[in-house]
Amino acid sequence: MIEKTRHIKDTKKLVGMLPAIRYTEPKYLFIATANARCPKADLYIKEGDHVNSCQVIGMRHGPFFEQPIHATCSGTYLGLEKHYHRNGKLTDFIKLENDFKDTIDPSVKERTPEEIAALTKEEMTEIIKQTANVGLGGSSFPTYIKFQTDKPINLILINGIECEPYITADHRLMLEFPYRIMEGIKYVMQAFNCKHAKICIKSKYKDIKEVYTQMVKEYAGSGIELCLVGNYYPQGWEVEMIKNATGIQLKPGELPSNRGIINFNVSTMVGIYKAIKYNMPVIKRFITITGDGINFPKNFRVRVGTPVKELIPMCGGYKNPDKEKVFIMGGPMMGASVPSDDIIVTKTVTSIIVLDKVTDKEEPCVRCGSCVLTCPVHLEPVQIMNAVKTLDKERIKSLNPLRCIECGLCTYTCTSKIQVTDYVRKAKMIAKL
Ligand code: SF4
Ligand code: SF4
Repeated sequence: MIEKTRHIKDTKKLVGMLPAIRYTEPKYLFIATANARCPKADLYIKEGDHVNSCQVIGMRHGPFFEQPIHATCSGTYLGLEKHYHRNGKLTDFIKLENDFKDTIDPSVKERTPEEIAALTKEEMTEIIKQTANVGLGGSSFPTYIKFQTDKPINLILINGIECEPYITADHRLMLEFPYRIMEGIKYVMQAFNCKHAKICIKSKYKDIKEVYTQMVKEYAGSGIELCLVGNYYPQGWEVEMIKNATGIQLKPGELPSNRGIINFNVSTMVGIYKAIKYNMPVIKRFITITGDGINFPKNFRVRVGTPVKELIPMCGGYKNPDKEKVFIMGGPMMGASVPSDDIIVTKTVTSIIVLDKVTDKEEPCVRCGSCVLTCPVHLEPVQIMNAVKTLDKERIKSLNPLRCIECGLCTYTCTSKIQVTDYVRKAKMIAKL
């Protein structure tokens, strides 16, 4: 994945300044039947059926949990079609023809402040489970499982750091929906009976800082405060964020809840707000379309299920259309490359980065140690790579590759342009066998 990690020319500042374009009524929407955590699904609809927006139309099944599938528009179910999923694989998608009426399912109903105030943690957990909320920063981890911890929580951290280059979807979300975020945080504090929350942002984001300084004043007495953290990558990694926001250094593999901390991405707060306030699943999200291969990078607010191809013309089309492109779903450091723009916006797609394809020639390792020096979890990527090349399973295991967070820094900094991260990924798979 050299082309995705070594050629970074960030347009972040400029794109983050532009309001997100609302593109919420495509003719067809596509909902993934499966994802990385839930590889199987049952559908509750048959071809020709009419569906309401937010209606449960199926159930995904995984080894550890199930996840309802929701329609993201009202219209007609036309059958299954294959498209690329965020995991880089061709996947069956449910094709819905939008009737442009946006008929909302009767299961969506507004709760009064009194009803919300009376909700217990267990009831909120169930609502979040039924509305299929997941980590919307890209983790896709089911939010209700985080809610199930029985550890006492005395600090909630909201991750608004968005530390990868290029991506500004959360930046726009924070500027455009501050009240939804603040209310979502209040609901989470209520669930955990927690008196303290910190919204973590990079200190260089002056516009977000201004907005949330004001928000914190408006919500005075709620226990919510703003926390400015560093401007480097991977500051958004939970271990790094917790260290900078609290001074606590988690041990390798230690859960934040062991220290009384729970953390959520800022976009997940909006998902929780909609779930608790309206019993509504995530049907829309912010997404950044950017990269050197695009004429005018932009942010959008779209329905989940929107084909990315429809957004490209609104970005002025491809720059240098004759040049082969690389498409990355997610950030340039941790995202996944897909071979075409036949990409669907799922709940957890934060961005699409389009780059002109540049093929770097790998040189032999010069033992410079850059990959070791930059690894945030203190692994020895070069040694892991050598062990993978010799298929030395015992040696691989002894080098602890499972601690790798796949930040991509070892590839990015490699003097010899070696795709070191890919070797570490292979090592993780071997270590699990
Ligand atoms: S990708 Fe893994 S091995 Fe490479 S620097 Fe990041 S954490 Fe370390
Ligand atoms: S950064 Fe690249 S060249 Fe340097 S030690 Fe690591 S693998 Fe070898």
